[in-house]
This record gives sequence, structure tokens and C-alpha cells, in this order.
Amino acid sequence: MSNHINYPILPNDVNTIGILGGGQLGKLIALSANKMGYKTHLYCPKGDNPAETVVDEITHGEWNDFDKLFHFSNKVVCATSEFENIPSKTLELLSKNIKITPSNIVFRCAQIRSKEKEMALKSDFLTPQWFLIKNTYDLIKASKALNNSGILKTNSLGYDGKGQVKIKNETNLLQAWEDLGSVECVLEELIQFKREVSIMFFKSHDESYGFFPLSENYHENGILKKSIAPVVLHENIEQELKLKTKKLAENLNFYGILAIELFELMDGSLIFNEIAPRPHNSFHWTIDACNNSQFDILIRAICGLPVENINCKGKWEMTNLIGEDIKHLDKIYNDQNYLLNIYGKKSIKSGRKMGHYTKQII
Ligand code: ADP
Ligand code: MG
Repeated sequence: MSNHINYPILPNDVNTIGILGGGQLGKLIALSANKMGYKTHLYCPKGDNPAETVVDEITHGEWNDFDKLFHFSNKVVCATSEFENIPSKTLELLSKNIKITPSNIVFRCAQIRSKEKEMALKSDFLTPQWFLIKNTYDLIKASKALNNSGILKTNSLGYDGKGQVKIKNETNLLQAWEDLGSVECVLEELIQFKREVSIMFFKSHDESYGFFPLSENYHENGILKKSIAPVVLHENIEQELKLKTKKLAENLNFYGILAIELFELMDGSLIFNEIAPRPHNSFHWTIDACNNSQFDILIRAICGLPVENINCKGKWEMTNLIGEDIKHLDKIYNDQNYLLNIYGKKSIKSGRKMGHYTKQII
């Protein structure tokens, strides 16, 4: 395959879509592709990969197995990644041969907290006050500047609240830094938010773009537990948020689907938290509530099919099934108004996302 593509990519015998990463997002991407008539080829390391049951072909390989990656790239017309922390070298190699959407540059930005905050500031967002921490001296100084109240996060490789620790007056800073592996971090001001919200922008290779309605999100121990959508913000605030989101997407020359997590303060203003250039858990309700889910729109975007703003009827609630939650579903199975989506992971682990259910609440 070559990385010159004539859009739109339509389903046929040779147009197979590559999916990097075998988790639930990979599975749901593959199901959307399949529904639209595309063949899918999954690349992921061996493991408990729910996506394996729904794709047409699988290549098992590590992210640094360049021979296998090259072989994979010869068998697909384009690819996307469900895995946010996909190594840059992997994407660089694949991009020589095939079109990866979103691009390597976008993933690099999302993978490094200091980079994404700089990009947010450049796009007119407000961010929490933050400091780059390269050593314990930086940490002591920054903690003092924040009156010993903040969140210390590893600058890369964090997800679902992992790789972060709250800093308080009584915190032993040296211990906190060691607990995170003595790696480069950011120390952020602790935001007293009213609620968390997220926005999703999308742009297709045919240059059309749009937004999903916004979500309102509730986390437990750093992991998303519940989303309620659509959430309606004050008209001006929502307009302004969309302009900033578009600007950020332009700054990244973005194609694909892009979620931004935000904190809403008591006065309604919004503070940037982080971006995710892939399907986002807080938009899983779109599977049941919208004509096109976030997974459908991702397929349309990477194939250069036209897209436009998405609306939905009613109000929806999505609840994540985390770890042992999946063992206590009697009430859910007994009411057909709960729409279940079980990912099919073989082993239950604490903090692991095992599935979700949605319900129309209005
Ligand atoms: P992850 O990559 O693990 O999702 P986040 O930065 O989104 O990391 O943090 C996870 C959750 O922790 C957030 O959704 C929020 O609930 C809480 N959190 C993170 N940063 C802050 C902050 N600066 N102030 C208050 N709460 C925060
Ligand atoms: Mg987050």
C-alpha cells in the first residue's frame, strides 16, 4: 500500500481498515466499520483483547516489532489507533506506508501533559496553574507556589487516574515523586469544580466537520463512572468552547475524532483538563442515542466521508461497569430499558472497564 489515498475510501475487497489496539474501543470501532461494509485488520500484542472476536484479521505483535508492523501496513489501506499511548516510533514507521488518522503529531501532543496544556493555552483555553517537574527541587518549589495543594501527574503514560497523586500539606513530597517512579511530572493546581464536562469534535478527510452534544461526567477514584448527556451550557459559553476546540484542532491539523475533558467552575467558566484523539468513554451513550455513534463518525472521518453536527433525542445516562460491578447486574438484566454493552474481557480486575449500560432518562 502507499500513503497516497484517493478519498473517499469505500468498502471493497482491498480496502481493509487497520485498527491499532485490541481493547473495547478497538472492538467498537471494528463493529462500526463492519456494519458499514469495511473489512478490519487488528494489530495488537497478545493478551485479553476483546476486539479479536469481531475483526476479519489479526496480527499479534509488540509495538516495537517493526517487521510485523510493516507486514500489517501492507495489508491495510489506512489505520487508526484506539490506544492513546501508542509509541511515536510505531506511528512514524506506519505513516511511511499508510495514512494514520489521527496523525502521529496529534498522538504525541495527547501523550505528553505539558505539551497538551501548551497547545490548549495556544488555542485560548484556560488551564489549571501547572508546573513541569523534572526533579525534587522543582517539586518542592512548585508545591510551595501552590500552597501545598495540587495533583502530581506523570507527564506521560497516565490513564484512568493512574500515575497521579494528590499533594496536601502533610504529603511527603520526596515519597510522592518516588511513588510515581521518579519520572518527569506536572504539578497542577487542584481545581474545585462544579462538575466535569467533555466535548467531542470530528473532522473528515473531505474537510467536513461537526460536534456531538456535550457530556457531563462523574469520576470515582480517577475513573469515569457516569456520563449524562446532552448537557446544555450557557449559549455563549458553548459557542466559545466550540471556537476554542476548533482552533485547537486547526493547530494540530486534526482529522478524526477529538474529545476534550474540562472542569466547569461554579461561575460556569470552563478549564481545560486534557484531550483524547480517539473514541472517548464519556461518548459511549452516542451508540444508543444518536444516528451515528462516535465510532461510526470515526470510520466516516478516516475514510473521507462527509460528516455534520450530530443531535440526539432525549437525555441519556451511561454507567460504566468497573471490575466486580459486572457480577451484580440482576437489576439491569431485569429491565429492558437498560441497554447493555459488555466488552467480553476474560479476566475481571479492580479498576478495569468491563462494560457499560445506558438508559434514556427523559
Ligand atoms: P487521566 O489521564 O487518568 O484521565 P486526568 O487528568 O483526566 O487523567 O485525571 C483523572 C480525573 O482526576 C479527572 O477526571 C478529575 O476527576 C481528577 N482531576 C485531574 N486533575 C485535576 C485537577 N487539576 N483538579 C481537580 N481534579 C482533577
Ligand atoms: Mg482524563
